[in-house]
Amino acid sequence: ASIFTAVPRAPPVAVFKLTADFREDGDARKVNLGVGAYRTDEGQPWVLPVVKKVEQMIANDNSLNHEYLPILGLPEFRANASRIALGDDSPAIKENRIGSVQSLGGTGALRIGAEFLRRWYNGNNNTATPVYISAPSWENHNSVFVDAGFKDIRTYHYWDAAKRGLDLQGLLDDMEKAPEFSIFILHACAHNPTGTDPTPDQWKQIAAVMKRRFLFPFFDSAYQGFASGSLDKDAWAVRYFVSEGFELFCAQSFSKNFGLYNERVGNLTVVGKDADNVQRVLSQMEKIVRTTWSNPPSQGARIVATTLTSPQLFAEWKDNVKTMADRVLLMRSELRSRLESLGTPGTWNHITEQIGMFSFTGLNPKQVEYMIKEKHIYLMASGRINMCGLTTKNLDYVAKSIHEAVTK
Ligand code: PMP
Repeated sequence: ASIFTAVPRAPPVAVFKLTADFREDGDARKVNLGVGAYRTDEGQPWVLPVVKKVEQMIANDNSLNHEYLPILGLPEFRANASRIALGDDSPAIKENRIGSVQSLGGTGALRIGAEFLRRWYNGNNNTATPVYISAPSWENHNSVFVDAGFKDIRTYHYWDAAKRGLDLQGLLDDMEKAPEFSIFILHACAHNPTGTDPTPDQWKQIAAVMKRRFLFPFFDSAYQGFASGSLDKDAWAVRYFVSEGFELFCAQSFSKNFGLYNERVGNLTVVGKDADNVQRVLSQMEKIVRTTWSNPPSQGARIVATTLTSPQLFAEWKDNVKTMADRVLLMRSELRSRLESLGTPGTWNHITEQIGMFSFTGLNPKQVEYMIKEKHIYLMASGRINMCGLTTKNLDYVAKSIHEAVTK
């Protein structure tokens, strides 16, 4: 008998399963609104022109080699990644009280950060610290913190389904009631899956409660530039919290805004009270990375670092990001106007009010099933759609299908 006989089969990861189902579907009308990746109006993946250019520069640079990077990663990548999160004039950078860990994507940054917090935050190996995750959230948040050893994962109110918007009061109440020193995972911008962010004024209210109640902000910034098209606007919340004197973590992903999904390039920024605290934290981060991936891969980090350190390439990148953000905005207004002119029951202003890659349509699981089974349009059971899956060619079909799903 096999020693693996007792291993239970784990359920597939929903979003990857959806993509596999989509690939197998032979219907010519099929549309994939599931996976969280940018697509062109031809429905194709997009290698950003600036990335292609920098890749060629790297290939031609004979000074580069494939030696190991330092455990914490490529120094110029780490510093510049943190700089675009915190801003050029960040007080924390000027005061030399930030540190960075190059990670395998945003997921790696979250995982290393979670592992550090379990080991060292609020008492050594304190697995009882409550970790609060928005309801709903990217489903991996929960699993990452569970796997890091946290035992008390909770949700905080976020989405008001009736209003199709932010439940600010519910969120603030949950923060008021949370035990001091609880950890809160906050989406820096373009909340996944709801596409709904607090306004600056609402963020100020959130920060005020968190400060008074000694709650720890762990920002997840996976879509900087994707929400508004502006890197600075999309980093507003993180920068505001830093300006308010918080110590915090910020997990960055360059998967979406650089289109470097499979290069696994991310960064964990630590903001502390002073340089000495941050250096001790980084020394522990180094130990965690050493047993996790030992040292990170270089290609994605080189691409990002080269781009961020050249004013000309940086400008090109911002332009590429804006191209993606603008296409999403166009698809939002096109979908909304089609649903409104079809007279689809319900209100559809949320489609254009939501921001970032996703829209939370409000379709219920039965309607989603109808979309998949009858229309070959693949979307998450939550009703989340990736706006980048829409193109000028499939908009009419998708809108008509949503209309039928709602009215049938
Ligand atoms: N956080 C959120 C909210 C995300 O949506 C994603 C990507 N789907 C990530 C983190 C992780 O991104 P990465 O692929 O860089 O690990």
